[in-house]
Amino acid sequence: MEYDAIIIGGGLSGLTAASLLAKSRLKVVVIEKSYNPGGSCGIFKRNGATFDIGAAMLLRRTGHAPDDRALYQ
Ligand SMILES: Cc1cc2nc3c(=O)[nH]c(=O)nc-3n(C[C@H](O)[C@H](O)[C@H](O)COP(=O)(O)OP(=O)(O)OC[C@H]3O[C@@H](n4cnc5c(N)ncnc54)[C@H](O)[C@@H]3O)c2cc1C
Repeated sequence: MEYDAIIIGGGLSGLTAASLLAKSRLKVVVIEKSYNPGGSCGIFKRNGATFDIGAAMLLRRTGHAPDDRALYQ
């Protein structure tokens, strides 16, 4: 199979980049070493409870931060 872009890492950065490229009609594959995507923004489960690996809150645009619209689309 052929791809236009190969993204290494399925954290927020990789997933955002892949999503933007796919929206531009490029054929993209994301290679993730972990068993599920998300990286530091992912989750894990223990005994029926779900825990954040890292990020627990995503803040809305303030006008001062770099343009993060892609993250919220
Ligand atoms: C404890 C903690 C709390 C946080 N809290 C917040 C918060 O509340 N709000 C907030 O906005 N941000 C928070 N952050 C920051 C935020 O989680 C990270 O900035 C963001 O998730 C980083 O995303 P990333 O895609 O750049 O990197 P990562 O999330 O590190 O993703 C990298 C991915 O690449 C994969 N990978 C690495 N090497 C390879 C390889 N060779 N082959 C294949 N896959 C590979 C990894 O498995 C991982 O999934 C927190 C971070 C931590 C650690």
